[in-house]
Amino acid sequence: MRMKSYKNEYQNNLDAQPPGGPPLLKDQFGRTFNYLRIAVNEVCNLRCIYCMPEEGVPFKPSKELLTHDEIDRLIKIAAGLGINKIRFTGGEPLLRKDLIRLISNASNMPKIHSVHLTTNGVLLESMAAELKVAGLQGINISIDTLNPEKYKMITRRDEVEKALIGLEAVKTVKIPSIKVNVVALRGFNDSEISDFVFMTKDYPLTVRFIELMPFDAHQIWKTGKFFSAKQIIDSLKQLFPDIKTTSGTATEHFTFRVHGYKGKVAVIPSYSRDLCGACNRIRLTADGQIRNCLYAPNEYSVRDLLRNGASDSDIADLMLKAMWRKPIDGWAAQKAGKEHRESMTQIGG
Ligand code: SAM
Ligand code: SF4
Repeated sequence: MRMKSYKNEYQNNLDAQPPGGPPLLKDQFGRTFNYLRIAVNEVCNLRCIYCMPEEGVPFKPSKELLTHDEIDRLIKIAAGLGINKIRFTGGEPLLRKDLIRLISNASNMPKIHSVHLTTNGVLLESMAAELKVAGLQGINISIDTLNPEKYKMITRRDEVEKALIGLEAVKTVKIPSIKVNVVALRGFNDSEISDFVFMTKDYPLTVRFIELMPFDAHQIWKTGKFFSAKQIIDSLKQLFPDIKTTSGTATEHFTFRVHGYKGKVAVIPSYSRDLCGACNRIRLTADGQIRNCLYAPNEYSVRDLLRNGASDSDIADLMLKAMWRKPIDGWAAQKAGKEHRESMTQIGG
């Protein structure tokens, strides 16, 4: 049986587990995975130029995407393997009708410590209170520019005001952790770095500048807009000479605070891939494929197992196998095969 045939491949992994307890998600390089990112859809109400073309991408029919019962079951199985942090992303997760139920179920799942969301924030104002009640612990809102005309250029939609109102709404309901994601683009928003840093003055939120990644079929990233983590850090130090390093999450190694400001600024080297050694993530696409690295095109279909009557232990075995095989870093992952996804919206970011 297929399930048995790969068991030997990660037998070492199982042997390395602490005795007595269930196996944990680990890889052969000593990394342990406690953070599951789940894309809940592929559709979106924006068309960010580095993510999707104006006409969108071939979105999969909903029957090919995981149902809420399937997602709940996978979270439960993953929690048994050491996952304690969940992030829902997409596509645009606020467009999924049962999102509140997914968040609430995940928040109430034993062993899950925190549930987070990544969103463009456009639909957030009316949902902020419900998200808080559902138990949401953290929210990342993607806003690449504060200028309405530039926002229209980058997202192809006139929605910056709604996204900013959404940000205010989650402050009002006091979602515990609030972050603003900014994809740094040379000659586009590099002139707005200090405006974004200023957002951290009076409120303890984190602004994260993220390197552009080569995940769109139209390869916008090749058009000279790439602005490296190093360049971002140099600009920050020039603009704020008294900026000091401070602590962040596993991917926020480059984290700073301006003296006297309440929030933080982080720089994410998502293209440079400097922080792969500290990676703690496992990704699940909306169509039910495990990706052991953002850059790894090889996927493992938990959806097929789920829909073919597999047991929880079969599904756990596939998760263990997928993560055991995680390449050492994003460069090795990229070399492992040709990318078949056309957009970050199909992977979840
Ligand atoms: N729609 C939601 C949003 O935009 O926050 C969630 C999904 S989106 C794919 C997740 C994150 O991926 C966003 O912060 C977005 O800016 C980022 N992203 C998408 N394409 C990217 C690219 N080519 N390079 C860097 N970041 C990208
Ligand atoms: Fe939509 Fe997010 Fe992609 Fe922008 S980055 S098009 S908001 S999925």
